[in-house]
Amino acid sequence: MRDDICTIPVSEVFEVRQGCPICRMRDTVEERITDYILGDAMMEPDVRIETNKTGFCEFHYGKMMNRRGRLQLALMLQTHTDEVHRTLFAKKMLNPDSKRGSNAKKIGEKCFICEKIEWGLSRMIETVFRCYERERDFRELFGNQPMFCLPHYERLLAGANKKVMRSHASDFSDDLNRITGTYLKELQADLSKYCTMYDYRAKENGDWGNSRDSVERAVAFFSGRNYKE
Ligand SMILES: [Zn+2]
Ligand SMILES: [Zn+2]
Repeated sequence: MRDDICTIPVSEVFEVRQGCPICRMRDTVEERITDYILGDAMMEPDVRIETNKTGFCEFHYGKMMNRRGRLQLALMLQTHTDEVHRTLFAKKMLNPDSKRGSNAKKIGEKCFICEKIEWGLSRMIETVFRCYERERDFRELFGNQPMFCLPHYERLLAGANKKVMRSHASDFSDDLNRITGTYLKELQADLSKYCTMYDYRAKENGDWGNSRDSVERAVAFFSGRNYKE
């Protein structure tokens, strides 16, 4: 599988300035990999060797079930099923039930799409650190992001240290804390407004302000997944 399917230019993502940029990176890569899996991947035996072993997680099975490409999915599932049967029911297993149990658990924990996304995302996040350290324009772009979701705030904060950003590590975490703190505070206000709008008196002729989609935004903030239509 080509590496460029799993990565995109970092500045392209940050220039959009809407929602969490790291979520956007993940979503773009996730779409590409899903398209690829249900398309050209059939022609690449090395991809099939991997998907036979790993299969997919609940979320990504769900995603593929909502797409075209049912034959490709069937072909992949067919050989994955062969492989799983071989792994679980091979002859001459010592202590077969506990071995089967642990093998079944291992298979259930793996997902081809999750693994590829993680591969791409960790490289792109390294690029974010590198750009922040070296490029003034990128520092400005980073500082002007509207938000980071909680999982990606945590991930960026955890990686920001003097080893990866010799001179700008503390500016980086200051930006992250400022953006996330401000966003949370606004979210808090919008949610409380939203709740008061449920009061029948307010509903009649009240002004929802920015609160209408505050539940969707709060879920996106905490889960790192966007449920907006
Ligand atoms: Zn995010
Ligand atoms: Zn997955």
